[in-house]
Amino acid sequence: MSASITSGNPADWPIWGHDYVVRDLVAAAIRGPRHAYIFAGFEHLGKRTAAITFAQALMCSAPPSPGVPCRSCRNCARIARGTHPDVSEWNLQRQQAAAEKASTSKNLSLNIATVRDISASLAMRPFESTYRVIIVDDVETMQETAQEAFLKTLEEPPPYAVILLLTTDAEILLETIRSRAATVQFQPVQEFIIASGLEARGIESALAHEISQMSEGRPGWAILASQNPPMLDDRRLRTEEARRWIEADRYNQLIEATKLGEAFSKDRESVFVRLSALQHAWRHDLTSGLEAADLDRVTTAVQALKSIEMCFSDLDANVRPKLALQTMVLQWQSSQQ
Ligand SMILES: [Zn+2]
Repeated sequence: MSASITSGNPADWPIWGHDYVVRDLVAAAIRGPRHAYIFAGFEHLGKRTAAITFAQALMCSAPPSPGVPCRSCRNCARIARGTHPDVSEWNLQRQQAAAEKASTSKNLSLNIATVRDISASLAMRPFESTYRVIIVDDVETMQETAQEAFLKTLEEPPPYAVILLLTTDAEILLETIRSRAATVQFQPVQEFIIASGLEARGIESALAHEISQMSEGRPGWAILASQNPPMLDDRRLRTEEARRWIEADRYNQLIEATKLGEAFSKDRESVFVRLSALQHAWRHDLTSGLEAADLDRVTTAVQALKSIEMCFSDLDANVRPKLALQTMVLQWQSSQQ
């Protein structure tokens, strides 16, 4: 059972953390799944891996224990490769690839044509299995008209249908869609679980801990970063910058805010990048404050995070950038004081 230690969840699912989610899905695979699920949570938390593993759990021909796929039989292998005839995956990238044959315009949301393709695919009985599993990613991009079209599929799903909707935000979905699916919420994974997962993949311990700290509980990000040194260096640089800003005295905090405010009209993107690095830094403070039950630290971090949210919406609303950024800084309680 060493895999359960490295994956950090109670079953031998190849997912880091998410104990409750895994328990529920294992139980669902054993007693028979519902027709539709919404997997909700930030990017890189493991929603897609969970969806693929769930499909494997439903179709595995040699499960080592109930609800746990072997991940090596022909069914499991084909699902992992994306070649199983009864499991299909839809997302923006696939839609874009299909559209490029016909047009060059960029698709930023899952559209009605894709919804129709999904329905057509779902109408086919499974060729080999009891179920037809449809995994739809990027669901948060679906406009209301596409959602309404999709609702028809959800209202009368064929008996073999298992529809997994992956979204960064469940709230964006129509209530009528949400009420027809079971929502499975993915939370950030604890740092030590990510660190031990990385170590189990051969990453040296100090680096594994550094990456897990930067990952904000996102195993997928941690794995990507561990394979991509430039990505890691970039994050290190941004984190240091953010730390210096946070830890500076009030005068220098304001100078930095002013500089960025002045740069905003020429380079919005880099200002947004700096702001999200700030968010990462404060979120990290929030997490360690919570872990240490340090209420002051938690309060300070929450307040700072609110000030950044406010700054984002001020900039969106065309408040003068300098003012928006200075106002944000003035709401930080310096961690030095
Ligand atoms: Zn299998």
